[in-house]
Amino acid sequence: MATTKKINVLFSAEMIRRRIRPLAYEISQCLDTSQELVLVVILKGAVMFGADLARALAPFFPLLRVEFMRLSSYGNERKTSGEVKVELDLSHPIEGRQVLVVEDIIDTGTTLGYLVRLLQARRPRTLQVAALLDKPSGRHAGNGGVHADYVGFEVGPVFVVGYGLDDAGFYRALPYVGVVED
Ligand code: 5GP
Ligand code: MG
Repeated sequence: MATTKKINVLFSAEMIRRRIRPLAYEISQCLDTSQELVLVVILKGAVMFGADLARALAPFFPLLRVEFMRLSSYGNERKTSGEVKVELDLSHPIEGRQVLVVEDIIDTGTTLGYLVRLLQARRPRTLQVAALLDKPSGRHAGNGGVHADYVGFEVGPVFVVGYGLDDAGFYRALPYVGVVED
């Protein structure tokens, strides 16, 4: 059974918790806290990070909205398919608003590159990205310009699970980020 494999912890629940506070503070210093902020949480991977970041941002942004999008690119494979599809779109317009995309991890950059182009076309006032994890070694050559404005942690060339990130649907509910031992 996939769920009984040993997981080596990379970022503990405590490390994640301690990182999110300064991240929220940094975001509050860079954006206009008197204006509406739309968080675009990317399902399903960013659900834990999105929930914790939203609560950390709430004291700074009285006009905070939490929206969701669901994209598919991976299926059940560990490698990106290169194709991105919108499976669930925003339920609220973002034109003229401050927007912060909340992603779990940036690997090849294909998903985020596609998403940023899509959202930019809807003319937000500002569009920034917060990613829990960044895997710079995975970036495809054509996605060199794809980046997150706010990053929780950098990771090496490993496949991580937990805190929203899955392997074929498992491990999402773990409170930490780790690597599955083979
Ligand atoms: P990209 O399009 O940047 O290659 O991939 C981004 C998406 O691939 C992430 O949102 C995530 O769903 C998935 N992904 C990339 N690297 C990992 C990883 O190490 N672990 C898991 N669970 N998902 C990953
Ligand atoms: Mg994802």
